[in-house]
Amino acid sequence: RASPFFESEPPMPTTKAYAAFDNKSPLRPFEAPRRDPRAGDVTIDVLYCGICHSDLHQAKNDWRNSKYPMVPGHEIVGRVVAVGNKVTKVKPGQLAGVGCMVDSCRECAACTRGLEQYCEKRNTQTYNDVERDGITPTYGGYSKRIVVEERFVLTIAEQTKLEAVAPLLCAGITTYSPLRHWKVGKGTRVGVVGLGGLGHMAVKIAAAMGAEVTLFSSSDRKRDDAKRLGAHEYVLSSDSAQMRKQSKRLDFIIDTVSAEHDIAALLLTLRLDGTMVLVGAPERPLALPAFPLLMARRSIAGSGIGGIPETQEMLDFCAEHNLTADVEVVSIAQVNEAYQRLARADVRYRFVIDNATLG
Ligand code: NAP
Ligand code: ZN
Ligand code: ZN
Repeated sequence: RASPFFESEPPMPTTKAYAAFDNKSPLRPFEAPRRDPRAGDVTIDVLYCGICHSDLHQAKNDWRNSKYPMVPGHEIVGRVVAVGNKVTKVKPGQLAGVGCMVDSCRECAACTRGLEQYCEKRNTQTYNDVERDGITPTYGGYSKRIVVEERFVLTIAEQTKLEAVAPLLCAGITTYSPLRHWKVGKGTRVGVVGLGGLGHMAVKIAAAMGAEVTLFSSSDRKRDDAKRLGAHEYVLSSDSAQMRKQSKRLDFIIDTVSAEHDIAALLLTLRLDGTMVLVGAPERPLALPAFPLLMARRSIAGSGIGGIPETQEMLDFCAEHNLTADVEVVSIAQVNEAYQRLARADVRYRFVIDNATLG
């Protein structure tokens, strides 16, 4: 941009946001830079942004890779306000979503299969990352406006409870993808571990796929909710008698727990050739004993979010089955309190920021 007022490059445009400035202090206001839109870019006014436990992990530097200032947020829904002249996917005025990624190499074996999350070079995360240039920081959805290349923009059908759609962009796809990959369907016995943001979507989606769902929780507090959400059984995982009753029953387990916990006892609930997939990302490694695996040819696996085509498929699946998240809408000023409650597993079942409160 040529400017008569600046000798070098003019400053980038900015957007109102909230950021973490270190791993201890509360989040506070920040003017986040946003790039000038390119021909392939979509500019979105953010309406709602979910609060994922990954936001908390990264704000606290649990994964030892945090860069500050950090504007978290990767469960974004908003309205398109402008598109570059190469954009065909969305038009100004339409609803759009952005999830955990805003770019990838777009040409490796993973990217060409629509598995951008497993890009061989690396995907570009929506925040706490750098653009493909290797230097420009990315800032997430706790902000008024975001600029994203159209490949990484999802289309969202016009609907009323938009705040309840936002969590699908991470919690929804992260649970949908492994349920599909391991071919969960009618009659599959699925275990879901942890009833938080991911866990409650796993219950809803697995039940909608026709599975019989058993919920494992660290407390008894969520028993009624789990049933209402679609779980058929509820197990207090610290109760060994309840755990023994589940011995060799399940075909598949999705573990969404955000902290250290005992997976040996959970593995024993899998039947022959059963698989347990970890989607939770605790700060410290989990202990993996060999015997529960080898005694019934069990597998343990992991799964990361989902690719862009599958995210669109998940949004369409959820629209068709009338599935959204159970949310508690908060103002941006309440974000630090929401973080404290998330740390205590006190969320029913996703906090979502009303971005209008950013001013
Ligand atoms: P969340 O809403 O906080 O839910 C986590 C649940 O885990 C809690 O509600 C709680 O359920 C259980 N839990 C928490 N601490 C526990 C402990 N010490 N022992 C046993 N259970 C405990 O978190 P979320 O947003 O769903 O995210 C869950 C995890 O997935 C996080 O680690 C996050 O970073 C990760 N994640 C991974 C991906 C991916 O691509 N794989 C994507 C998104 C998020 P109960 O009260 O029922 O026990
Ligand atoms: Zn997330
Ligand atoms: Zn790639």
